[in-house]
Amino acid sequence: MGVCGIVGYVGHRPALDVVLGGLRRMEYRGYDSAGVAVLDGAGRLTVERKAGQLANLEAELDAVGRDGFAGTAGMGHTRWATHGAPVDRNSHPHRDATERVAVVHNGIIENFAALRAELEAAGVELSSDTDTETAAHLIARAYAEGDTAGDLPASVRAVCRRLEGAFTLVVTHADRPDLIVAARRSSPLVVGVGAGETFVASDVAAFIEHTREAVELGQDQLVVITRDGYTVTDFAGEPAQGRPFTVDWDLSAAEKGGHEYFMLKEIEEQPDALANTLRGHFDGSGIVLDEQRLADQDLRDVDKVFVVACGSAYHSGLVAKYAIEHWTRLPVEVELASEFRYRDPVLDRDTLVVAVSQSGETADTLEAVRHAREQKARVLAVCNTNGAQIPRESDAVLYTHAGPEIGVASTKAFLAQIAANYLVGLALAQARGTKYPDEVAREFAELEAMPAAVRKVLSTTEQVRDLGRRIADSKAVLFLGRHVGFPVALEGALKLKELAYMHAEGFAAGELKHGPIALIEDGLPVVVVMPSPKGRGVLHAKLVSNISEIQARGARTIVIAEEGDDRVRPFADELVEIPAVPTLLQPLVSTVPLQVLAAEIARTRGYDVDKPRNLAKSVTVE
Ligand code: GLU
Repeated sequence: MGVCGIVGYVGHRPALDVVLGGLRRMEYRGYDSAGVAVLDGAGRLTVERKAGQLANLEAELDAVGRDGFAGTAGMGHTRWATHGAPVDRNSHPHRDATERVAVVHNGIIENFAALRAELEAAGVELSSDTDTETAAHLIARAYAEGDTAGDLPASVRAVCRRLEGAFTLVVTHADRPDLIVAARRSSPLVVGVGAGETFVASDVAAFIEHTREAVELGQDQLVVITRDGYTVTDFAGEPAQGRPFTVDWDLSAAEKGGHEYFMLKEIEEQPDALANTLRGHFDGSGIVLDEQRLADQDLRDVDKVFVVACGSAYHSGLVAKYAIEHWTRLPVEVELASEFRYRDPVLDRDTLVVAVSQSGETADTLEAVRHAREQKARVLAVCNTNGAQIPRESDAVLYTHAGPEIGVASTKAFLAQIAANYLVGLALAQARGTKYPDEVAREFAELEAMPAAVRKVLSTTEQVRDLGRRIADSKAVLFLGRHVGFPVALEGALKLKELAYMHAEGFAAGELKHGPIALIEDGLPVVVVMPSPKGRGVLHAKLVSNISEIQARGARTIVIAEEGDDRVRPFADELVEIPAVPTLLQPLVSTVPLQVLAAEIARTRGYDVDKPRNLAKSVTVE
């Protein structure tokens, strides 16, 4: 996942300074709360945590006095809330009731509800809404009794074996100021090896000012760090090996995971963003939302759906319309939030308005939500930011869990929005009974195969970049698609406008001869998103004719097609192959090369890919 920041330190320097320095280095990732824990060597574990920016935490430390934080072992965390609002008591570190154990965590513990129930049944009082806190109590209990008693690494291993989901955990115990234990599954963890000091972090940026000798941990591994070094095992306690490497990036490259731009890093993170969006939203019997303040009956009564959004989020709605209508047999309208609000849409209590916004603060979308609620419609928010205004004002929420997105032009949040909208569709289908539970399970399983498919399409990145460099001086680019490929064409064009300041248009391929074909001239690049040659064969054949029409008029055809699609090959001046996936899920793979193409064209033209001119990440004015 690789979202927010974790750092741990055992060495000879004041841990608080090292840890705060590390958190500051990771601030670029975005976060909503921060916290630290320091072990003083005399059996004291001191914790401070605060919602908001690091500066809030530092002000609090100044207020309480930093004397309590003397010690050369400690850890810190910047949180990107997934479970529970970004408030002080949900901030990390989390402790057990005796306050001897402290835990920081990146990721999502999927089975936290069952673990919470188990702890509550055993009389444990939980003091936060997080999934993380369960780990702190479980580790403390394992350390207190049974065959792992008194053995911190063994206690952490035992608990890790019980956790499902994605996590980087860093654990300290007041009894053991000489060591810190860290573990990972599907979430990053690196060790930094210094002289008389050792670090753990979610990101090398946290420690490269101190050491460049790093060790990357493998899946399901645990590391114990002391000031003299580190020991790696698997979760069963068998010795294991990390992958040592020397960090040769400078700080700014390190922040970007070695990429030139955040956007390129975020494009690469899309498999994880998708996996995290799906994580925990299927409980074995059906789809579960993150928050639901309306009755199941209200979902059953829905007779019409509006998806309301702006920009890329609007395109995610256009994609989802195909799936939601197909699965639920409900009419779905997708509307720009800025238009919806002012045209007196027909809404009543059986209308479901799905408001999609990465930031959860988009002013146009927020106003649309308010208007819908005044008309008594139900509102379901699809947002990436826990605790933001739109989710707060909605009746139900599904978070995308894509992690903070820094590039202004949306990439991983867009893919996550498509997946989340699909989950909304499945939730409606199951509530209305238009799909049997086993069908919902099957659709979910197909979605779960998508991170691997996206990883595969990322192997075309170099080919697409090369193509981008070759067409970077074109005066315009057109994008064509049909069915779910049509909104993908719109999104491809939007990316190019946003990043490369180039004229770009997306069209439904069938509309071509009703007007836009007049634009085709010699050498004009036209990107075509091909449907699968299987299944909807009719559409495929139609699109092949569309391509031949434009090729005959001199267009330079750039074709995004399923691997093995031989029928389209003769018409493709450039062919980018994507893996074969179910029809409705194709946008999750076909969008990726279009993102890469836009970024590379912009880069070649000398523009800042992360900060396109005139644009803001979160549009909080109408
Ligand atoms: N799931 C945890 C929480 O919501 C950790 C989130 C994170 O990765 O920062 O507190």
